[in-house]
Amino acid sequence: MLTVKNIDVFYDDLQVLWDVSFEVRKKEILVLIGANGAGKSTIIKTVSSLLIPQNGSIEFEGARLDHRPPHEIIQQGIVHVPEGRRLFAEMSVEENLIMGSLYGEAKTKRFDTMEHVFELFPRLKERRKQMAGTLSGGEQQMVAIGRGLMSLPKILMFDEPSLGLAPILVQEIFEMIRRINAEGVTILLVEQNVIQTLAMCNRAYVLENGRIILEGTGTALMENDQIKEAFLGI
Ligand code: ATP
Repeated sequence: MLTVKNIDVFYDDLQVLWDVSFEVRKKEILVLIGANGAGKSTIIKTVSSLLIPQNGSIEFEGARLDHRPPHEIIQQGIVHVPEGRRLFAEMSVEENLIMGSLYGEAKTKRFDTMEHVFELFPRLKERRKQMAGTLSGGEQQMVAIGRGLMSLPKILMFDEPSLGLAPILVQEIFEMIRRINAEGVTILLVEQNVIQTLAMCNRAYVLENGRIILEGTGTALMENDQIKEAFLGI
């Protein structure tokens, strides 16, 4: 569905991704894991066209995506739930959700989609008029996911959705990601929460210092000695 081939990405003259290649298959949950600073967010930002690769290519359903503006990437159905949620703190839950449905079909179907988001997250329905900045961390993460769904994504990309959340909420958010996937949305998930994400994904790639060093199914990687040593402390 999405093919990233041999991308090199820089911040000014500082290279942070080297020859990164991976593919996302339709309807799967694909995970990119790696330590702090490995380049996970940079990959997501590059797929979203917030960064332009210096070399290599990104293709979605057979057409080139790199060098297209970010709003076109969203219109293609590739939607980013950013790290830190990035909500409009002074706007209500409802207004934040609407910000995810600015174009095309997402705009015309906006109110039906919002009802669906409220079915998934009943708590957001209760709090639809509340300012986003006054919500708890878990609720804010729900708004960020809901806003992503409002764009009618084919691929939903999550950048560390568990960051800063209590373990019980992390479970809830991961359960929601599984449910969204079961409804037919392909998932690209970036995480440091290695055990839980390997357990829930179909496949994973491991990133180290800007390079992909391993790939495999979640179950195979959980048995991998390098992974056990680096991430699981075994
Ligand atoms: P984390 O899990 O800590 O978010 P990450 O794997 O997502 O880490 P990135 O945020 O992609 O890592 O960062 C990769 C490298 O790029 C790091 O060395 C980081 O310091 C650097 N970097 C990230 N953003 C910028 C920027 N705007 N300007 C310069 N360097 C940056």
